Amino acid sequence: MRLDEEQESQNIEDRRGFRVSRGIAGGGIGTIAVILIALFFGVDPSVLLQGNVQETNLPQTPPPQSQQVGRTYEKPTLVLFSDTVQSACGFAQAAAGPFYCGPDHKVYIDLSFYRDLRQRFQAPGDFAQAYVIAHEVGHHVQNLLGIMKKVQSMQSRATNENQANALSVQLELQADCLAGIWANYAHRERNILEQGDVEEGLNAAAQIGDDRIQLRARGYVVPEGFTHGSAEQRVQWFRLGIESGDLKKCDTFSKRPVS
Ligand SMILES: [Zn+2]
Repeated sequence: MRLDEEQESQNIEDRRGFRVSRGIAGGGIGTIAVILIALFFGVDPSVLLQGNVQETNLPQTPPPQSQQVGRTYEKPTLVLFSDTVQSACGFAQAAAGPFYCGPDHKVYIDLSFYRDLRQRFQAPGDFAQAYVIAHEVGHHVQNLLGIMKKVQSMQSRATNENQANALSVQLELQADCLAGIWANYAHRERNILEQGDVEEGLNAAAQIGDDRIQLRARGYVVPEGFTHGSAEQRVQWFRLGIESGDLKKCDTFSKRPVS
């Protein structure tokens, strides 16, 4: 990725230990991440909120007024932490991976996740790292659009766990598609992508697919237990977002990906 001319963004909260944050000044993974974050948050996804949003439907639920054109985008804050963190969504450990908390509009990441991504998940590369953040900001967009709340209420009415999991998969795949849309816009506006970047991102999406994670963890796959989607699904939706840049395509609730 081309990041040299990107400015660092201000909406970052550094809650890491003192020793760690001093270490970051010297370069290495932290610096890369901060530049990526700057890059990401520098893109104003209000473009996403200005048109066509009403067509991102949920099954049998008409879009509420809040999804109409002309919404103001509120930037999320990125919180860097080490080991454990307290959010409006409760206490979290780094092992759980990066996450977005709707009530406080913040994305949380322990940067050691990037080492896991490279080593354990075999998904190296700066664009793979950017995809992780982009996915979480995809959840922020879903939150602003009211999609997250709707899915949560549908999940609370689900008659069994499999049904609730299936809704979770649809929400997560949409966040992947939105991450792809970010990449599309960022590249169109600022020419960030280099040879091999898209492949890096798609590889990351595949490596964190539920089937691959289950296989690594227990040696077999239980599709009913998926909460984020299979490798194939994650790649399909992320790719669709990247290639189309069209929010209408990200309707994971009623369609299969159509390019
Ligand atoms: Zn997610």
